[in-house]
Amino acid sequence: MRMSKLFLRTLRDDPADAEVPSHKLLVRAGYIRRVAPGIYSWLPLGLKVLGKVEKIIREEMAEIGSQEVRFPALLPREPYEASNRWTEYGPNLFRLKDRRGNDMLLGPTHEEMFALLVKDLYSSYKDLPLSLFQIQTKYRDEARPRAGILRGREFIMKDSYSFDVDDAGLERSYQAHREAYVRIFDRLGFEYVIVHADSGAMGGSASEEFLAVSDTGEDTFVRSPGGYAANVEAVTTIAPAPVPFDGLPAAHAEQTPDTPTIATLVAHLDEAFPRDDRPWHASDTLKNVLVMLRHPDGTREPLAIGVPGDREVDAKRLEAAVSPAEVEPFGEAEFVANPALVKGYIGPGVLGADNVSGIRYLTDPRVVDGTRWVTGANEKGSHVIDLVAGRDFTSEGTIEAAEVRAGDPAPDGSGPLELARGIEMGHIFQLGRKYAEVLDLKVLDENGKLVTVTMGSYGVGVSRAVAAVAEYAHDDAGLIWPKELAPFDIHLIVAGKDEAVVAGAEQVYADLVGEGFDVLFDDRPGKVSLGVKFKDAELVGVPTIVVVGKGFADGVVEVKDRATGERQDVPLAELIATLR
Ligand code: ATP
Ligand code: MG
Ligand code: MG
Ligand code: MG
Repeated sequence: MRMSKLFLRTLRDDPADAEVPSHKLLVRAGYIRRVAPGIYSWLPLGLKVLGKVEKIIREEMAEIGSQEVRFPALLPREPYEASNRWTEYGPNLFRLKDRRGNDMLLGPTHEEMFALLVKDLYSSYKDLPLSLFQIQTKYRDEARPRAGILRGREFIMKDSYSFDVDDAGLERSYQAHREAYVRIFDRLGFEYVIVHADSGAMGGSASEEFLAVSDTGEDTFVRSPGGYAANVEAVTTIAPAPVPFDGLPAAHAEQTPDTPTIATLVAHLDEAFPRDDRPWHASDTLKNVLVMLRHPDGTREPLAIGVPGDREVDAKRLEAAVSPAEVEPFGEAEFVANPALVKGYIGPGVLGADNVSGIRYLTDPRVVDGTRWVTGANEKGSHVIDLVAGRDFTSEGTIEAAEVRAGDPAPDGSGPLELARGIEMGHIFQLGRKYAEVLDLKVLDENGKLVTVTMGSYGVGVSRAVAAVAEYAHDDAGLIWPKELAPFDIHLIVAGKDEAVVAGAEQVYADLVGEGFDVLFDDRPGKVSLGVKFKDAELVGVPTIVVVGKGFADGVVEVKDRATGERQDVPLAELIATLR
């Protein structure tokens, strides 16, 4: 490709709306161009990189026997109505009507469509296991489109779906995908972690995320030296299944403390749930206690959560968080225990923590039947503490994070937690039978009995990956692509107007192309200064830069490594060997 012909205009200045390096550089280097917030066009350079990401993914999907299909983005409402996602997706869903007034949507993800396709064509256990994938454009009307293609409203995802007849099959399909993802992300070349994740709105059980470790990421995760890793979101967005509230057991119903201090609450808890008689947990840890304040007008709000084993210490902690003076004006206090663990012990009009992965965190209130539900943590030694009214929650019902702290013990005892940020690059779910059930995806099993198929769903942010790689692979001067993703193998520059040099560069170009290299040849005429050519080469970020200049007369060209800045003079005769 000749630079003189390439549809490219590099920019000297960062786009005004860009905050993160990948966004700035991908726009400045002419890879993408903004159309509207969260909506971008791919220019020739960008499209080449995108294609290389897709190629890696296709190869690894083929490796696990997944077959490629492609669905439309424009979809009818009914399947999403059946799964309730037409409603659940809320304002994130792009909805439209056709000329007959039928509701349509632009697909945010395709679980429903894949389930229906398989239902359409398959009917026997003998057809399974099956794995299908697509690389396709998704639409989500994100509240905060951000950082260029990192969080788009239109973006490209690889989504795959597995279909199995039983749980053991699903587990195998999930593991195969997990391994494929490890290979994909190894090849993409950024540092990543695999974390326990929330299966949230998707439903289902096991779920893990692949996070590219990066300060620009929107996900916060924790990890320990012993290998524990979890997305803090995992403990904040799983709404515990609403537990039917039958009232406190009679023995405990009247035990609201007279004096709303933490000390009396704790004493009261001791009484209500004697140490040796706690059916919900074998250890001597009283967990997941959410202390609620009841306002004089009857409204309630969470005050503190978590009273781990060492009662005295935690009573102090809680007291430090909310002094009795602050408690008084609210009047009466009451407590509830984790409904997930202590079924039926939920106080009126309140909620509890979930028992997912144990991080001090409390956020994302849900309203279920007029009751605010929040989730929190309940693993040993990891309770949400130190909530401060006004800072961590307001009486309006917004409950913000009480942060996990660096140094907190990992729930599995694998050492102190470290906090870091990451970009969600991939997400794998064991969906189970949720979609198959509502869409009636069944097959005949060995005994001729109809059984519901169990599904997995697995996503990779393909367009996001381009940005995530760029977040890693850059310096002040521009992008630095890893070899497997670079838009070209070699960026060839002709230095100067000297006829022999120009002719020499043309020859080198022809030779390199002849040898199978994909070469970007900056053949722009002499009026484009060498300084500009070098600047552009650094900005565009092809890993190897070859300069044909003065040395050509002596049979030497310069080979520069974009990443290290190392230069070497290479005799023409050795050029191909050096570049291989
Ligand atoms: P996020 O937490 O970043 O919003 P998600 O959990 O909503 O992502 P999934 O539904 O798990 O996303 O989709 C699978 C993958 O698609 C994600 O892991 C991510 O890499 C990618 N992805 C999701 N939303 C976007 C987006 N708005 N722009 C670009 N890529 C996205
Ligand atoms: Mg999202
Ligand atoms: Mg997510
Ligand atoms: Mg996700």
